[in-house]
Amino acid sequence: MAKKVNYIELLKHLPRTNCKECGEVSCMAFAVKLAKHEATLAECKPLFQGDYENERKELEKLIEEYGLKAA
Ligand code: SF4
Repeated sequence: MAKKVNYIELLKHLPRTNCKECGEVSCMAFAVKLAKHEATLAECKPLFQGDYENERKELEKLIEEYGLKAA
């Protein structure tokens, strides 16, 4: 059985800068879309740059666990 997606758990690992590069108004809005299979991790460009490598790895684990879209 698929694990219920907790968007707060996803949000904890996002940059939380609300930069809007993903096209959403905030990281929380993006986390909700990610949890609903309406966005992919790759759309958060800052995650793939600079200082977010550890957070990205945590998110990739969660994405796999939840069966969500990575790209
Ligand atoms: S691109 Fe990433 S850091 Fe920027 S608002 Fe979207 S989820 Fe947040």
